[in-house]
Amino acid sequence: MSEVLKKKMQTATLVEKTVLGGGRLGVFKLKPDNGVRWWFQAGQYTTLGLDTATHGFVPRAYSIAGSPLDEGIIEFYIALVENGQLTPTIFSLEVGAKFHYLTPKGKFTLKQAGRKTIVMVATGTGLAPFVAQIRTLWKSHLAGVPSPYRVVLFYGASYSDEFGYRSELEQMAAAKKDGFDFTFICTSSRPDAARGWTPAIAKGRVNEVVRHAFGWPVPEDRTVSLPEGVDAAALKAHVFANGAADVGFMACGNPGMIEDLKEPIAHAGVGTYLVEEFWKA
Ligand SMILES: Cc1cc2nc3c(=O)[nH]c(=O)nc-3n(C[C@H](O)[C@H](O)[C@H](O)COP(=O)(O)OP(=O)(O)OC[C@H]3O[C@@H](n4cnc5c(N)ncnc54)[C@H](O)[C@@H]3O)c2cc1C
Repeated sequence: MSEVLKKKMQTATLVEKTVLGGGRLGVFKLKPDNGVRWWFQAGQYTTLGLDTATHGFVPRAYSIAGSPLDEGIIEFYIALVENGQLTPTIFSLEVGAKFHYLTPKGKFTLKQAGRKTIVMVATGTGLAPFVAQIRTLWKSHLAGVPSPYRVVLFYGASYSDEFGYRSELEQMAAAKKDGFDFTFICTSSRPDAARGWTPAIAKGRVNEVVRHAFGWPVPEDRTVSLPEGVDAAALKAHVFANGAADVGFMACGNPGMIEDLKEPIAHAGVGTYLVEEFWKA
């Protein structure tokens, strides 16, 4: 079955590999072979496949973290799953290695969310499709095309040294005064100063921080707080300025986080809740 799939795939070469998070997270940049150009919308995913030593040819879905406006290079943000069939092989590769891939697809896009105010919620590498979307809006903004969206991104990781893309996202959020309407909040569920936690980072699981920010119920035994200087009432007013029907939520990554937000989002009367689960609960 996988060999049949492999024959349908094209190849791309690994041109850059950056490992972070103590070796558990990686940014992988691929260049399609034979001058093939990839067409995709920010938020879509592709299937990557590799021959592995223990499981034969293994294909898996990966969201594209790079913007469609990035010329010729496709970027991925991938977590190492210990004992996983594919990711240990991906992490063992060096620049020059060949990947197989399928044409990108998927409906996890801003267009599909269909609202002007977008609240993005990510765990871990579930950040990938949001990086693609925010980078695309940012590049357009720099080219003089104003973003039609107000975007708030909540990004959760266990430890504070596991936030890939943090400085890039902080720089874009700092451009708010230039008319780029983007708010970025990262949160650590294990806020440990020895691992980089500071008061600029929220405390708690990302779904609980979202609940706290919008005044939705949080279990009493949980310690949750927003970053220093971020006021929950002001944030809620900012997001719901044009009413709940104007707001689209998008969540990507851990299925438990996605499930936990379903009920309060529906209760709030929010326009859309678009989700991308990275694995089954
Ligand atoms: C549409 C889509 C887009 C995806 N995009 C990305 C992406 O951009 N980046 C990325 O890192 N992953 C992404 N994934 C997950 C990816 O497809 C693989 O499931 C993951 O890389 C593990 O592959 P593996 O073969 O090493 O492990 P497997 O052998 O397939 O997994 C073993 C078990 O590990 C668990 N698992 C899988 N992924 C994770 C995880 N991230 N954290 C904890 N446990 C996990 C599951 O319970 C699974 O049964 C995406 C999945 C989907 C469906």
